[in-house]
Amino acid sequence: MTDIKSMLLPELEEVMSSLGQPRFRAGQVFKWLHSAYTDFDGMSNLPKDLRNALKENYEIPGVEIETKQVSAIDGTVKYLFRLNDGEYIESVFMRYKHGNTVCISTQAGCRMGCKFCASTLNGLKRNLKASEMLSQIQAAEKDTGERVGGVVLMGMGEPLDNYDNVLRFLKLVNDKNGLNIGHRHISLSTCGLVDNIKRLADEKLQITLSVSLHAPNDELRKTIMPIANKYSVAELLGACREYEKITGRRTSFEYALIAGVTDTMELADELGKKLKGSLCHVNLIPINEIKERDFKRASRESAAAFVKRLEGYGITATVRRKLGADISAACGQLRDEHNERS
Ligand code: SAH
Repeated sequence: MTDIKSMLLPELEEVMSSLGQPRFRAGQVFKWLHSAYTDFDGMSNLPKDLRNALKENYEIPGVEIETKQVSAIDGTVKYLFRLNDGEYIESVFMRYKHGNTVCISTQAGCRMGCKFCASTLNGLKRNLKASEMLSQIQAAEKDTGERVGGVVLMGMGEPLDNYDNVLRFLKLVNDKNGLNIGHRHISLSTCGLVDNIKRLADEKLQITLSVSLHAPNDELRKTIMPIANKYSVAELLGACREYEKITGRRTSFEYALIAGVTDTMELADELGKKLKGSLCHVNLIPINEIKERDFKRASRESAAAFVKRLEGYGITATVRRKLGADISAACGQLRDEHNERS
């Protein structure tokens, strides 16, 4: 069975022509698929024989809510979704003043091996299809009854390790006949696959690139992020500058604050010196502790001191506001707990 929901409009047009159907049917099917229809029978403006032909050859992958947790504090919703083949992924629905944002997963599991991250503990299961990325947003909209205006690719998985499907998703989600979410309201977070950052820059999309830096030098970065053995900090920062130059978008750096490991003033100085003069923003994330590792969360005080120190270099930095503090399982933990239970 072919995944019809991941198809771009020209591809659907080819399908229609192969079935001897007029071109406009492609647009009709596209609209149904992107209004979250999960079966062909409900596509009431299509002739019955077309619906049957589609049913025989195509599938519409979706996600089902396995469990969800709703924060009593701010209404953040954390979903554990089940995919058609029984894999599990997580997504988070967040309410901000400027609108609702969903954090989606791009892979089931991850093979990047970052030492502080729960998503990678059992390696990569598989890449998600573009349709499965869209479905996370649609499922959250349906469940909450609210419109989603922004997306962050910061859930499980490394988006740039699933490049083709992610790019397809970015094209589909932006379509005015689809979810119609503007690229300026989308952030893609990467641990720093330099070659694919360059490829992405050449696509000239207006999405925000968010880079998980977490350490200002190779030596320290290698101890917490295996990808640092492949690409140096200098190469990574070079690719970010290129991305900025080509797209005109400022890079956002994520920096996890791990007590005694990444939160010292010496490291703040080193980071400040390296980023000074570039068009960036630093997002400091006091780490969520995971039980499989003994990294400790940096204190509020040390986070505040780190911000101040960076500001001394003319760099804007903020400490990530914690949404859903009462349900806060670190990324990947819901799935792990579920796997342990079953
Ligand atoms: N693979 C991508 C996106 C997914 S992770 C990336 O690496 O950017 C989204 C962000 O959460 C990344 O910055 C990641 O390093 C961070 N992260 C992972 N585990 C964390 C934890 N336990 N505490 C705080 N941040 C974490």
